[in-house]
Amino acid sequence: MKFDVIIIGAGAAGLFCAIESGRRGRKVLVLEHNAQVGRKILISGGGRCNFTNKDVKSEHFISRNPHFCKSALARYTPQDFVELVKKHKIEFYEKKLGQLFCRESSRQIVEMLLTECQKAKVKILTNYSVKDVSKDENFKVETGQGVFECESLVIATGGLSFPKIGAGDFGYKIARQFGLKIVETSPALVPLIFAKDSQNYKKLAGVSVDATVSCGKQTFRENILFTHRGLSGPAILQISNYCQKNKAVSIDLLPERDALEILQRNHESRQLLDNFLSQFLPNRFAEVFTALQSANKPVSQLSKMEIERAAEKLNDWQVLFDGTEGYDKAEVTLGGVSTDELSSQKMESKRVKNLYFIGEVVDVTGWLGGYNFQWAWSSGFAAGQFV
Ligand SMILES: Cc1cc2nc3c(=O)[nH]c(=O)nc-3n(C[C@H](O)[C@H](O)[C@H](O)COP(=O)(O)OP(=O)(O)OC[C@H]3O[C@@H](n4cnc5c(N)ncnc54)[C@H](O)[C@@H]3O)c2cc1C
Repeated sequence: MKFDVIIIGAGAAGLFCAIESGRRGRKVLVLEHNAQVGRKILISGGGRCNFTNKDVKSEHFISRNPHFCKSALARYTPQDFVELVKKHKIEFYEKKLGQLFCRESSRQIVEMLLTECQKAKVKILTNYSVKDVSKDENFKVETGQGVFECESLVIATGGLSFPKIGAGDFGYKIARQFGLKIVETSPALVPLIFAKDSQNYKKLAGVSVDATVSCGKQTFRENILFTHRGLSGPAILQISNYCQKNKAVSIDLLPERDALEILQRNHESRQLLDNFLSQFLPNRFAEVFTALQSANKPVSQLSKMEIERAAEKLNDWQVLFDGTEGYDKAEVTLGGVSTDELSSQKMESKRVKNLYFIGEVVDVTGWLGGYNFQWAWSSGFAAGQFV
């Protein structure tokens, strides 16, 4: 069976590219190995899909080439996607920091994409796993149920995170097969595991604290969440993209407050330090943190050095991590098909004519907050104009 365009992967990027190329009158086939399309969309944003962010800039993405994403993001913007969502009468709201979520369910986004695919006469086959790809004049795409042929081939197979819902390394294999470079991949937007010396904090599992988390020049202010193995929560997921092994992460547990100034100003307080700190921090946290970091005495009995030490720990708690929870828990994959290999305008391989890579399989990774879906829509749109 011959098509103008075959897209491997019916996720956010693949479906969006299918809509755009179908609208141009191209005969499009999407092959998906899951029984259902858009499984990551369905589970995203806690079931409400944080489908974009009002403020999207190249600074919100990590890539060996920080400029690569600019062209696609400028040609299909968050506003464009919001218009589409409005056209489909999907109610949405801004949760925080420009993050736009469906009011009801992520399912509405998948239904919207399927409706648009239908209008654009896109053919979608689920339960079709692509095993092999070859090229002479056209591409031959082998599945367990037969071979399909196409002029343009789009790889939209996503990254390695969440293998239990179909993620795998197929896209990278195809890239390597055709001689394209891959930027080393690693789990991103992922909970971190404490190194040995911080393991006593595990007893705080379930406690959440508003904090500023920094590593190198990167800083995020949001919640951190203690887990049974380490830390999670939005600020930690964000900083996980920038963490380096053996480099401590600095956590300010009293953001915008000077702990030293507060303790010095209250140096006559007879409250035990943990009770005193529970004005600013959750009780359980104040209790465990004080027990592990300093003497739990009345503030008035703390020596100058003890006050300085406690203040330093509160404003600049240095935490070492042993690693991450891996691809099973990572929202996305850092690295991927090198942007050196692709045209930023078309997403087409510079080496192999008519071979395209879009979405998460490319070395463009967004922050938490709707940026990864915006990259999927924008890169899918870009390729959709040329395939
Ligand atoms: C739990 C979770 C929550 C998330 N929440 C958000 C959020 O709220 N906002 C946000 O912006 N981002 C979120 N993300 C990230 C976002 O889901 C991804 O960045 C985005 O889905 C990437 O789109 P994609 O189309 O490139 O890849 P995917 O959506 O992963 O789609 C790839 C598709 O290819 C299929 N496939 C793979 N190999 C083959 C093969 N050999 N043959 C056939 N089909 C194949 C897969 O089954 C899959 O359907 C979340 C991720 C996770 C895991």
